[in-house]
This record gives sequence, structure tokens and C-alpha cells, in this order.
Amino acid sequence: MTREKIYLFDTTLRDGQQTPGIDFSVEDKIAIATMLDEFGLDYIEGGYPGANPTDTAFFDEKRTKLATFVAFGMTKRAGISTSNDPGLASLLQAKSDAICFVAKSWDYHVKVALGCTNEENLESIAESVKAAIGAGKEALVDCEHFFDGYKANPTYALACAKTAYDAGARWVVLCDTNGGTQPPEVRAIVEAVIACGVPGNCLGIHAHNDTGQAVANSLVAVEAGVRQIQGTLNGIGERCGNANLITLIPTLALKRAYSERFETTIDAERLVGLTGLSHAFDELLNRSPDHQAPYVGASAFATKAGIHASALLKDPRTYEHVPPESVGNFRKVMVSDQGGKSNFINALKRRGIEVGKDDPKLDQLIQIVKEREATGYAYEGADASFELLARRTLGTIPEFFAIDGFRVMVERRFDSHGRVKIVSEAVVKIIIDGETIMSVAEGDGPVNALDLALRKNFGKYQHEIDDLELADFKVRILNGGTEAITRVLIESTDSDGVRWWTVGVSENIIDASFQALMDSVIYKLMKNRHMAGKIAAE
Ligand SMILES: [Zn+2]
Repeated sequence: MTREKIYLFDTTLRDGQQTPGIDFSVEDKIAIATMLDEFGLDYIEGGYPGANPTDTAFFDEKRTKLATFVAFGMTKRAGISTSNDPGLASLLQAKSDAICFVAKSWDYHVKVALGCTNEENLESIAESVKAAIGAGKEALVDCEHFFDGYKANPTYALACAKTAYDAGARWVVLCDTNGGTQPPEVRAIVEAVIACGVPGNCLGIHAHNDTGQAVANSLVAVEAGVRQIQGTLNGIGERCGNANLITLIPTLALKRAYSERFETTIDAERLVGLTGLSHAFDELLNRSPDHQAPYVGASAFATKAGIHASALLKDPRTYEHVPPESVGNFRKVMVSDQGGKSNFINALKRRGIEVGKDDPKLDQLIQIVKEREATGYAYEGADASFELLARRTLGTIPEFFAIDGFRVMVERRFDSHGRVKIVSEAVVKIIIDGETIMSVAEGDGPVNALDLALRKNFGKYQHEIDDLELADFKVRILNGGTEAITRVLIESTDSDGVRWWTVGVSENIIDASFQALMDSVIYKLMKNRHMAGKIAAE
């Protein structure tokens, strides 16, 4: 049975750039375009040449080898000819294979935003498409506010789509620009567009996630007949984001409702790179991956030990909707105070630690974990600390160094301009091979000062921790009032791109942070010696 192709169109570099706090440089754009191209998407939209210097420079060269490289821009302005429109000229000159024109398809916007007549807007759509084709490029038309426009004036919205198609656009893309359309409405409106004469294999869907349904709306549009999906990596985008390609791609590939009828360029072999792509993109944005992201999150295939864990170990499929390896993720059974003895043995085994069922050290470890969890430690979010605790209890951890002590000072004073200045300074004393090393550092806040002092001079280990970076730092106050306990979770990473989580708990936030920092450094030293388990390190 031949399956129909669904084309994947990535707009991370164009619509994704609208995300608050995200601003790509030309170098970022080149790196992301390369990642997307290597992964195998059909279309990569690079931005809006002519709108800003970054995008103009990005379009000086074609940035893809396999994917169709797309420039985005407005249709020709009303009242001037295509050859006299400077915006259109920079689109035609851009080194792209295709142009995606954004066109108004809601009569209200035509009047208010463009200030031209409905007829003039249709003419701009047709002439822009023809100009792109005339320049040897593939033409796409994004019908902005299509669904809202259809609800307000179906005849005009359909006329916009039909005009684009009749002028020769390869794709007419229906955009839910405000993101408020519901799946049944998407289905009905797509069916109406097809009924008016634009075939489904020339239709695309561009959904926003304002009601959390961008993925659902994209899938229902495919069911109704569209054959191109526009979306972004990790669903970034304005407001609540765009349709998440990282969720859509495995759904199309692995769920029979779609995989039996459709195929995309992302076959089983490429799909294994999905988790890596998602995390590499977060890395580039310098943000921590979402643990609960479908398919690729660290918790996507995680189960708390307990009744589920034993069934999970007997047959993983009982608790997993797809095999984690198929998307490059992995199974994780977490340690928690619900865990029984066999769960502990299995949790240790996965970290390469063998321990007998009757070993008294195992009972001791279980006892320690339960006591610690009762006082606020949370090992299920801190794999590396759990592993270190286990190895310490079982006596399989080398004594790399000892801590003699630390001191942190926070001073609030006025500088020479009379402005308030907060200065944090930390002193750390560590002992390596019987020798005391003292380091002092100032930082932006006490924890930062402590971290800088701790890593300033690590004697013979210094070069080993040079690439250690703190990726995330989470503080939680566990019970209110004066007896509050603080839990600090630290996520660390290194030049291998490996991430691990460590935890510290104390009545004092600095001490809790120090414990988590220490575990992170020790874990790194263990990892360098191939002595750390795989689970936390993957
Ligand atoms: Zn959009």
C-alpha cells in the first residue's frame, strides 16, 4: 500500500524567532538550519530578508543542502507594480529556493492593516505568486488569520486561498494566527477549502498553541486533507508557541492512525535522532530541556518505583506507549521512598552497581535513602546524587579530596556614587593528598561566589573540571516558618553534552547548594574515570 507523503515545514528560524527572549544571530541561524537539514525536514524557512540585517545576511547564501530553503515576506503592496516594490525585490533576490508570502485573508485585516480593497489584495496575492515563479522559485502563500477570517467572511477567505492556488502557488497554507481555533472547526474549514477547489495536496496547516491544541489542530487538518505541516523545534514561538514538530514527527511515524496512511522524510532511522535534536536545540538556546516534553523529555519514559516498576521490568510495553529507543530516549525507573528492595537492586544494576540481595550494606543504603527522603532529599530528580550515595555506602568511591571548610560573606554597602552594592565573597578550603588549598572568589550572590571559589583551584584535578558547567539551579523551600528546610537541585553539564542532577538539603541554603555542588564535582571526576553509571550520564 502506498502511503501519502506529509511535507514537514520548519519555521523555527522565522516564526520561532518571535518567542520572547529568543533572538538568533546569523551564526545561530546557520547552526540551526544545518541541524534541521541534516535531520531531514522538507522545508526550512529562514526568516524575512529585507526586514533586518541578520535575516538579510542569512539569505546572502543558500543555507541548506537537501531541504527547500524558504524566504518569508509580504505580498506586493497594493497600488504599485511588482517591479517597483522594494520588499518584493529583496525577496526575489534572496538566495532561497522558495518564497512564502504572508497574505491577509480576513477582510477586516485587509481594510484595517493594508488599507486597500478586497480586490486589490487578491491581485497582490496573484501577482506576487507569479513574480516568484517568474524568478524560478517555488511559491507558498501563508493565509494569515485564515480560520478567523473564514468565520467572519467565508467567501472572501476562500477567494484568497483559491486566488493563490490559481496563480500557481505550490502550497496554500491555512494559518490559525491567533491560535484559538478548535479541532472540529479546523476539520470543517479545511473541508470547505478543498470543496472550493484547492486540493489537499496543495494545502498546509500553520497552527499556534494558544489553547494547547496546535499539534491536535495540525493532525486534524491532515485527516481533513492537508499535506504540509508547519511547526517549530520544541514548539517555540510567539505567546504559547507554534505546533511542535518534535511531537508531531514521532506521532506521524509511530502511531498507526497516521503511519498506515502517511509517511514523512523522517523514517525509523532518522527518528532515533529526535531526542538529540530537541536537546541540541535547547543547548543552543541555553535553556534546560523540558522534562515532561512528549517523547523526548527526561520524564517521558520515567516511572516511579513501586507497583509499576516490577511490571515495567517484566514487560516494558505495559507502561510505554512507544519504545523509548525509537525516538532516541531511554527508560528510567526512579528511586523513591515507595521503592522495595528489588527496585533498589534494579536501580543499582542499571548504574552498573552489583549488590547481593542479602548484603547488609543494601539494607543500610535503603535505610539511609528513606531517612534522607523523609528529611527532604528527592533522589528521583537527582540521579547522580543517588548514585554517589549508593557508591559511598557500598564503599566503591575513591576519596578524591576532602573539604576542610568554607565561609561565605555577604556585604551590603554603598559605592562611591552612593548606590547600594551587594558583594558576595566565598573562601573554600579543600585538602588534596594531605595538602590544603585555599581559594577566594567574589560572585553575583553567595552561591555563585561559592561555586567560583570551589572550582578556582582544584589542584591536580583542575583540568578535569574545566568543562563542567552549571546548567540549572532550582531552590525549593520545603516547609514554611522559621524551621524551613531548603532543597537545592543542580543540573550540570560538560563538553560531552552529558547532563546530571545532584541534590543538597539543609536548613541553610548556602550549605544545601554546597552539598549539591560537591556532588556535581565528584560525579564529574567519577565520570572522567568511567566510574559513573550510564543512567544519570545519558
Ligand atoms: Zn505564526
